[in-house]
Amino acid sequence: MVSCPECKGAVELREDILASEIVVCYACSSELEVIAVEPALLALAPEVEEDWGE
Ligand SMILES: [Zn+2]
Repeated sequence: MVSCPECKGAVELREDILASEIVVCYACSSELEVIAVEPALLALAPEVEEDWGE
């Protein structure tokens, strides 16, 4: 589990996640890029705000 940089919620990562993969935070729906895996570190992915409705 890693903290979402956007909402601080817990984000679950697959055990075989790789750096530079994109994951989605279930709490805030932000796209997060895996910056590093050991230890796991997430950052907001670029170009997220394309079709943000509400
Ligand atoms: Zn989040």
